[in-house]
Amino acid sequence: MRVVVTGGGGFLGSHLCDALLARGDEVVAVDNFSTGRRENIAHLDRNQHFKLIEADVVDGIPVDGAIDAVLHFASPASPPRYLELPIETLRVGSEGTRNALELARMNGARFLVASTSEVYGDPSIHPQPETYWGNVNPIGVRSVYDEAKRFGEAMTAAYRRTFNVDAKIVRIFNTYGPRLDPGDGRVVSNLLTQAIAGEPLTVYGDGSQTRSFCYVEDEVRGLLALLDSEEAGPINIGNPIEMTMLELVELVREVTGSTSEMVHRPLPQDDPKQRKPDITLAKERLGWEPRIDPREGLQRTAEWYRQ
Ligand code: NAD
Ligand code: UDP
Repeated sequence: MRVVVTGGGGFLGSHLCDALLARGDEVVAVDNFSTGRRENIAHLDRNQHFKLIEADVVDGIPVDGAIDAVLHFASPASPPRYLELPIETLRVGSEGTRNALELARMNGARFLVASTSEVYGDPSIHPQPETYWGNVNPIGVRSVYDEAKRFGEAMTAAYRRTFNVDAKIVRIFNTYGPRLDPGDGRVVSNLLTQAIAGEPLTVYGDGSQTRSFCYVEDEVRGLLALLDSEEAGPINIGNPIEMTMLELVELVREVTGSTSEMVHRPLPQDDPKQRKPDITLAKERLGWEPRIDPREGLQRTAEWYRQ
């Protein structure tokens, strides 16, 4: 297949490019490096099956030639980054998604959009099945991300209904691993880099809020399983092992050997209190489930940050 990966210079996008190339696909990554990093794909510079196009997908996606699949992963993803880039985030989730869908439509290509557990907002149903419609503050600070993703899902569903585009939606839950930008402010990157540097470990609020963290290798395997299937989704891909941020701090201390103290910082506005994927659908329809537990995943990620 010849596959376009928007956001291919980012954390998840670069791992996707690697996985597609490894199975023999040709990859065209499109990225404006607003939050991604060139180092993520520097090792692909001389790969004849890989091409990088530097462009903002909001302005169009300048890829020529036949295309078999379009994977739309461009978007700021960490809360500090999308709060710094509010309009850009809304535009890449709306106009960018439409451009990516048009590219798929013009080429008769398969389409996959990276949606998120954030479409469930601060969920009142736990764990979250795909049938839950969510609880999002439409004008809150996080809405620039949440509502852009919800709009992206709506546009994708409409392209499927209206133009018969073979379009799929994945709802990704918190994913971490090597190449997660050490400076992007997410909890895993913050805690691991703080622990390694011997700095205090920052916990927002009282640390009782929960998340469920999926190792990137598991996540990418799930994404490809969906891409290769006849399922349209939306489908949750995440690790259902749920923990509080206080438990995460303990695990980070354990895997890094850190004795850093914990410091509390104010809880960001609209921070979801709990989050855990119901992955029944992924198990039944894709035969997918995660294999790497948080201890092992954090160990591997800590090793990468050390290097
Ligand atoms: P990331 O910031 O590392 O990657 C996003 C990439 O998109 C970056 O390389 C960035 O430069 C690029 N980009 C942003 N706006 C662009 C634009 N207008 N034009 C071209 N490129 C643009 O983040 P990530 O964690 O790899 O996330 C990738 C995708 O997965 C995002 O769509 C995100 O919303 C989604 N997602 C990620 C997670 C997670 O836990 N990592 C969870 C849910 C959803
Ligand atoms: N968080 C924290 N310390 C940090 C960064 C984040 O306690 O240094 C909290 C944050 O408030 C949230 C959780 O960790 O409750 C996950 O945050 P992240 O930004 O990684 O992802 P998201 O909120 O999008 O799930």
